Amino acid sequence: MPANPFSLEGKTAIVTGGSRGIGYGIARAFIEAGARVVITARNEAQLNEAAASLGPNCIARRCDNADPADIAAMVESAWALAPIDILVNNAGISPYYKKSEHVTVAEWDAVVDVNMRGTYFCSVEVARRQHEAGMAGSIINVTSVTGVVPVVRQGVYAATKAAVHQLTKVMALEWAEKGTRVNAIAPGWVDTDLVGGLFASRHGEGLRADIPLGRLATPGDVAGAAVWLASDASSYVTGSVVVIDGGRQLV
Ligand code: NAP
Repeated sequence: MPANPFSLEGKTAIVTGGSRGIGYGIARAFIEAGARVVITARNEAQLNEAAASLGPNCIARRCDNADPADIAAMVESAWALAPIDILVNNAGISPYYKKSEHVTVAEWDAVVDVNMRGTYFCSVEVARRQHEAGMAGSIINVTSVTGVVPVVRQGVYAATKAAVHQLTKVMALEWAEKGTRVNAIAPGWVDTDLVGGLFASRHGEGLRADIPLGRLATPGDVAGAAVWLASDASSYVTGSVVVIDGGRQLV
């Protein structure tokens, strides 16, 4: 084990949805730990601005995670820069907060396509190349505590996150002999654009009251676990779900 097992020196990562929020926080922490990071998102202006703010060890690649062909092209382009040691499947959406009987087929498809199918095919594209190259890799899926405990008005979103927990375990088992570790981080409520509107709404007070530590997480609260799971410090950890929720799952 190196002198600092948490170091990411010499490693290259992809962080999907790295242009803001949790993904941006993880990309920044990876770069501070010594990695080179490819961040992806759809909005190119915001993506390029984020990459510029993270400095020369950050590269931007536009990608829509709802489109498997786009994912394949993005991974090919990122791999041409350097073999990818670490993949963080962070891109995700939660576009509604309503009970299940009000969800449309289009809303179901949109959430499943990004959160579940996108995570699946991005993992496969990276892992296949890692196996061909004989590399040990780390894949980290950013899921949600809603994949662990039921949260009302989050039905499809919660189902995608629970599904990714099972994918995490299946892929960890399938790829252990090849040296690719697969783990998940399940955050509780994190103060980002994704939930800003919800917490400003009439639901905000009740949601906040259900957090034992009494505050939303920051992206930095999540990034430390991502550095650990990406680094040699977690070399014997695979198939795990790390919950970072201020105690929300205990309520
Ligand atoms: P956010 O602030 O809305 O950021 C989402 C990121 O994903 C952005 O970079 C966004 O960029 C990108 N993205 C969205 N749809 C995409 C698509 N189709 N293809 C590619 N990139 C896409 O959200 P966040 O709160 O940081 O959430 C990040 C992850 O954490 C998600 O998986 C979310 O489910 C999970 N999470 C969040 C919370 C929370 O309370 N905030 C809690 C638990 C889990 P573009 O829009 O430009 O594509």
